[in-house]
Amino acid sequence: MQAWVIGNWKQNPATSHDVDLLLNNLLTTIDAKEQANTERSSSRCQLMVAPSCIHLAAVSARLAGSSILSAAQDVSAHSASVGAYTGDCSAQQIADAGATWTILGHSERRQYHSESHDTLLQKVTHALTQGLGVVFCIGETQAQYDDKQTLDVIDTQLSVIKEVITTQPDLISSLSDRLIIAYEPVWAIGTGKVPTVSEVSQTHQHIKQTITGFAESLKVMSVLYGGSVNADNADSFAADPMIDGALVGGASLKVESFLAIANAFSRAKD
Ligand code: PEP
Repeated sequence: MQAWVIGNWKQNPATSHDVDLLLNNLLTTIDAKEQANTERSSSRCQLMVAPSCIHLAAVSARLAGSSILSAAQDVSAHSASVGAYTGDCSAQQIADAGATWTILGHSERRQYHSESHDTLLQKVTHALTQGLGVVFCIGETQAQYDDKQTLDVIDTQLSVIKEVITTQPDLISSLSDRLIIAYEPVWAIGTGKVPTVSEVSQTHQHIKQTITGFAESLKVMSVLYGGSVNADNADSFAADPMIDGALVGGASLKVESFLAIANAFSRAKD
């Protein structure tokens, strides 16, 4: 099965100049490695990057024709296309900017923008109906982890997907290719703290069973782990058959660590 390594650049880098430097470095390093044939970086691992909205069109244009996909970090909940929604970017505008995917439900959006079940239901529906793939993020807080509520929290968050399937049955057939779940414990994001591989593996197994319960065709859907993945711990996550890739924040801003993570998954899933 193909692995996924997705870089969530969040509100970075600060300038378009720095975005260009990061992208050029990424593309030239991949080219050099492929030409030297030292690493099979692209064979078993699909790379994707999610820049901030202001850089999305330029990044998508630069990546056109390369093996790397581009994604938004969010879409408007209010309208799939146009409307009086100051500050929003619609799924249609994101697709028009050249992105083919969007991250949705990231814990920073849930925390700082109070994204609710209904908001996320709208966002996922708009993204899918505009032809975008969705990387849907779920995960428990530290307090919920300490209270052993992880699976209950995840079930509640996954009910968005269940409702999308129930209300839009025509989307089911294409969903296994256009939906990825990213399990990201909130307490592991940007903290350097990580759950054990066995904990992640059991949670992923639960996610896969739950999603397959919504629609049998989703049995093959990818479930990624996110939260302080780096060049040093990537091999251990990649070795687990339940972990189909990684959503990477901080380490995706350095080409060396991003590609080391990609190579770990590429080797493990070969
Ligand atoms: C993220 O924000 O999705 C993330 C996983 O961040 P980090 O890798 O920095 O923990």
